[in-house]
Amino acid sequence: MSLRIVVCVKYVPDATGDRHFADDLTVDRDDVDGLLSELDEYAVEQALQIAEEADDAEVTVLTVGPEDAKDALRKALSMGADKAVHVEDDDLHGSDVMGTSLVLAKAVEKTGYDVVIAGMASTDGVMGVLPAILAERLGVPQVTLLSEVKIEGGPNGKVTGRRDGDAASEQLEASLPAVVSVTDQSGEARYPSFKGIMAAKKKPVESLDLSDLDLEAEEVGLEGAWTAVDSATERPARTAGTIVKDEGEGGKQLAEFLAGQKFI
Ligand SMILES: Cc1cc2nc3c(=O)[nH]c(=O)nc-3n(C[C@H](O)[C@H](O)[C@H](O)COP(=O)(O)OP(=O)(O)OC[C@H]3O[C@@H](n4cnc5c(N)ncnc54)[C@H](O)[C@@H]3O)c2cc1C
Repeated sequence: MSLRIVVCVKYVPDATGDRHFADDLTVDRDDVDGLLSELDEYAVEQALQIAEEADDAEVTVLTVGPEDAKDALRKALSMGADKAVHVEDDDLHGSDVMGTSLVLAKAVEKTGYDVVIAGMASTDGVMGVLPAILAERLGVPQVTLLSEVKIEGGPNGKVTGRRDGDAASEQLEASLPAVVSVTDQSGEARYPSFKGIMAAKKKPVESLDLSDLDLEAEEVGLEGAWTAVDSATERPARTAGTIVKDEGEGGKQLAEFLAGQKFI
């Protein structure tokens, strides 16, 4: 039986771009270029390594996002994933982590899975909680923030991995099906080859909307969100800063500056 690996990948606004809130205080995603969240490339890489070691495996990449999120899926397909699922619906606008995790759970169940692999956090929301909420919604074990991950025994087997903390490294394991998240220490993500980029153009991308997942508009989007941005103020432009020239009194001036700013 084939090992079914689903990788959750997020299309995020480019952090080097000039990002703004829209009038409804959601992130203005039309106004800035996006890309596959770099932290999710590690998840794709681990999925591909697991698939390469397994006798028989299939890697599906899954995203919840706008039309342009297809770019993130294409990148993951060009790295070597087999197929993609894109959940796109106008009513998703403004979904928070509760809405996004609900949609992902439904899509994962519809796709079929033995293991779901996610990144440690997205590079825009950076909550780092989605994999845990997803596991809870699916009713399966979660093994999160792994810097090393292995699957043994195929679809009915187990996932093992190492989680490195400040004080200790833990060796963890869980029976499949399970949700896993991997850190940026899990191993460099591969670059798509020219052959991979060409092959990705022919790989299947399934599009789903809320009705395909038996979800109602009010369960997601701004209406279904548990959190909302009440107000936002643009950060003032950076000022030139203070330069302390050491002409004998440099140390004193530095200390006075730091004390004035209440740093010391
Ligand atoms: C079109 C759109 C509009 C949104 N509008 C809002 C809004 O107005 N307010 C708001 O609070 N939130 C909004 N969200 C949701 C938000 O951007 C996050 O997707 C969600 O809150 C998860 O939090 P995070 O990004 O911090 O995930 P984290 O918990 O940091 O992510 C961990 C991992 O979960 C996976 N993951 C996260 N998001 C997705 C995804 N969308 N698809 C696939 N995998 C994913 C990735 O593997 C990621 O590495 C919107 C999302 C979309 C797609």
